[in-house]
Amino acid sequence: MIITQKYFLHFPVCETNTPIVYKLVKDFDLEVNIFRARVTSEGEGYLVLDVKGEAGSITKAMEYIASFGVTISSVKKGVVRDENLCNHCGNCISHCKVGALHIGDMKTRKVVFDDKLCIACGKCVDNCPMKACSTVF
Ligand code: SF4
Ligand code: SF4
Repeated sequence: MIITQKYFLHFPVCETNTPIVYKLVKDFDLEVNIFRARVTSEGEGYLVLDVKGEAGSITKAMEYIASFGVTISSVKKGVVRDENLCNHCGNCISHCKVGALHIGDMKTRKVVFDDKLCIACGKCVDNCPMKACSTVF
């Protein structure tokens, strides 16, 4: 049975150069659509992608990827922040590894959200005390 599954992959520093997507296509006969890809200044990699193919092949492919120490989770489809709920406490900043949530102005210390950088890992959703961040389905 052909299925499509969305995944969030977190690569440890040592595996950011592994040609994972090439392997998924060539060795597991999968179609891969990349939504977001980022490498942090610390060298960690983040990848958000859709994978389409036989369910068994997807399972084997994810087992292969996990064998490199890559953390795999299903993706929350998108993340938004409600400006009215956010009190700019800054708690989310340390959880946002790609800098999508950051201090926009050092004078006001207001936290801004850049959705173009967001990789939908969901960490801010889990760690915002005001429930200002939420997933969109
Ligand atoms: S943790 Fe929540 S309330 Fe605090 S700055 Fe981030 S989004 Fe705003
Ligand atoms: S979901 Fe939240 S923590 Fe994750 S990248 Fe997007 S803004 Fe940052």
